[in-house]
Amino acid sequence: MTVHRVRVDALDGEVTLGHREVRHLRVLRLTEGDEVRVFDGKGREALAVIRQLDDARAILALLETVDAAPETPTPITLAVALLKGDKLSDVVRASTELGVTSIQLLSTRFADVPDISAAKLERLRRVAAEASKQSRRAVVPDVLSPIKLADLPLTTQGYVAHPGSSDRLADLLTWTASVTLVSGPEGGFHDDEIDLLLTRGYRAVTLGKRILRAETAPLALLGAIVATGV
Ligand code: SAM
Repeated sequence: MTVHRVRVDALDGEVTLGHREVRHLRVLRLTEGDEVRVFDGKGREALAVIRQLDDARAILALLETVDAAPETPTPITLAVALLKGDKLSDVVRASTELGVTSIQLLSTRFADVPDISAAKLERLRRVAAEASKQSRRAVVPDVLSPIKLADLPLTTQGYVAHPGSSDRLADLLTWTASVTLVSGPEGGFHDDEIDLLLTRGYRAVTLGKRILRAETAPLALLGAIVATGV
């Protein structure tokens, strides 16, 4: 039997759930005395029992902590250019399933859109939470407000997907430091942007001989990593 998973703010003592989760528990026809798994989005998971459940609220009592699904050996940040429409939702959902630790939105010279609304950012964060729950992770990736490409920090393990490069991510990646993956907008990066990243320690990597869409490239980067078995 699948035990239902619930995201909570913190794992201590008794937990009161809000409307959204209450509705979900009721749809699943769970009742008082049933057990669920709770996770805090930061990597901790526990077994809990439903003590009280009515239309307005649910109270869970924690029973014991349990092993959470393993994360990658070091954190992975996906820095992805702002894309239009629902493309970012697709990227956030799939990259969460593929194990990313945080998602940094990037404003670039040719980004599809110049900025993102607060409501859309909130929606992306909900997409990440839902995808973590579904993929049985106990970590919910942060979706971080856009920064300029020039403000991406220096790194010892940064890789930018760039057509024309012949280096392959799987050949370069090590688990000695956190990893930053950078993926461009539909219009690609300006040469100056690539030069800037290279001077900051990023390596350009290929994703094969075909040009991938801007929403596909981040998943190909992460796919190359999960194919190593982490
Ligand atoms: N005309 C653009 C160019 O030449 O860069 C195409 C941009 S592509 C639609 C969007 C982004 O996906 C690129 O900026 C790059 O980060 C990534 N990308 C797509 N195909 C790639 C490939 N074969 N190798 C490396 N990166 C790729």
